[in-house]
Amino acid sequence: MEFSQGLISAAYILAALLFIFSLSGLSKQQTAETGNWYGIVGMAIALIATIADPRVDNVWIILVTMLIGATIGLQLAKKVEMTQMPELVAILHSFVGLAAVLVGFNSYFEMDHSVMANFTDSQQMATNIHLVEVFLGVFIGAVTFTGSIVAFGKLRGIINSAALMLPHRHKLNLAAGVLSFVLMVLFVQQGGGDNLLYLMALIAFVFGWHLVASIGGADMPVVVSMLNSYSGWAAAAAGFMLSNDLLIVTGALVGSSGAILSYIMCKAMNRSFISVIAGGFGTNVVIDTDTDYGDHFEINAEAVADMLNGAKSVIIAPGYGMAVAQAQYPVYKLTQTLKDKGVDVRFAIHPVAGRLPGHMNVLLAEAKVPYDIVLGMEEINDDFPETDVVLVIGANDTVNPAAAEDPTSPIAGMPVLEVWKAKNVVVFKRSMATGYAGVQNPLFFKDNTQMLFGDAKDSVEAIFKAL
Ligand code: NDP
Repeated sequence: MEFSQGLISAAYILAALLFIFSLSGLSKQQTAETGNWYGIVGMAIALIATIADPRVDNVWIILVTMLIGATIGLQLAKKVEMTQMPELVAILHSFVGLAAVLVGFNSYFEMDHSVMANFTDSQQMATNIHLVEVFLGVFIGAVTFTGSIVAFGKLRGIINSAALMLPHRHKLNLAAGVLSFVLMVLFVQQGGGDNLLYLMALIAFVFGWHLVASIGGADMPVVVSMLNSYSGWAAAAAGFMLSNDLLIVTGALVGSSGAILSYIMCKAMNRSFISVIAGGFGTNVVIDTDTDYGDHFEINAEAVADMLNGAKSVIIAPGYGMAVAQAQYPVYKLTQTLKDKGVDVRFAIHPVAGRLPGHMNVLLAEAKVPYDIVLGMEEINDDFPETDVVLVIGANDTVNPAAAEDPTSPIAGMPVLEVWKAKNVVVFKRSMATGYAGVQNPLFFKDNTQMLFGDAKDSVEAIFKAL
């Protein structure tokens, strides 16, 4: 089956519109499922139109490759836990980056360099533009590829999540950027050059690796959305090289929405956008492992139940540990029981709690917790001083007072849930281990804080029983 060029363009426009509707749907929890469907239908139309393009030969190779890819993708998607989603997203970004690099090299080697000497001015101009496309496509793709692999490693815990602090790291980044620019100028002036392209690709691979390695754990949400944006620009660059309008539009949509999300996250975390995309530029942090914070106090489930029985207002601050323990269902049961006893129970959600944007909201919605008692950080932060008990369930970095009190802390300046201002705080976790940012949490040593050690789900169930 072959489509005419006009039909393909129409299909591409329809697919692009569906992608825009998809993004708009995904912006709200209530319309997210419809948004997903728009995206799926748009992608199906895009794939059919691309395969039916008369310029495409060897359709069977594409179909067999798609079948292999789809089988692997389906298996992975079925197995992946919610807490592993950011890792999956990061590794998928790396594929987009690698694809852009391969498309760039392919597009360059397909050019007939022998005829360039006889080019007219306009042909020369078109060639120069194509060379810039190739160069930028390979550069962005290579940075996205290695950057995403490091992000994957940090999220999976196989690479240390703390920031890599090489001496002169900013100068190294700057040198890589300047050198790549010089290579691009030479590449265009000389009408190409295999070695120039190889050298730049090598620099870009190392640059991408270093850029993400030098960003600390707590800033990873911004890194993931930033790499999402880069992967969009890499796809757009591949679209230019392949003269595929839909790939350009889709890449630009992903690139710009990723950039907007990164900006919003930076604002939420009080981080400079430029500083984060420049590999933590301007940050001067100290990982302090020597400070003696004093003793911590332990509590058991029965005592927490007694405390809750005497409380009028309770705020639950969930974090990544609630997702690991899958404690959202018993947490909901506990909430209902307390509400039936007339206690005012609400949830406080930090914008980067968990491991993906909106992670806690999704978990709580899954357990059918009503939306009206789930409040964002800005809505609830002033209410802690009047709260009897705060249950910190598997949260750590997002309730760390060091962010507000210690200017040298890696998370300094990040707005946090000010749970320590409540009358009593109970922290649910398994040990005294640090959170994702690798920083000790002074909250655990405060006089009004008590630690309830154990798996969050078991602890909540034990409290429920005792109540
Ligand atoms: P943290 O990752 O800071 O801490 C989670 C805590 O949960 C740990 O201290 C751990 O302690 C505890 N925990 C783990 N498993 C269990 C369990 N089964 N039962 C009880 N406790 C458990 O969580 P936060 O949500 O507060 O912070 C999120 C962090 O992740 C931030 O630094 C954020 O920047 C980063 N991040 C966020 C992303 C996002 O988009 N939201 C993406 C990438 C990173 P212990 O081991 O002692 O049990």
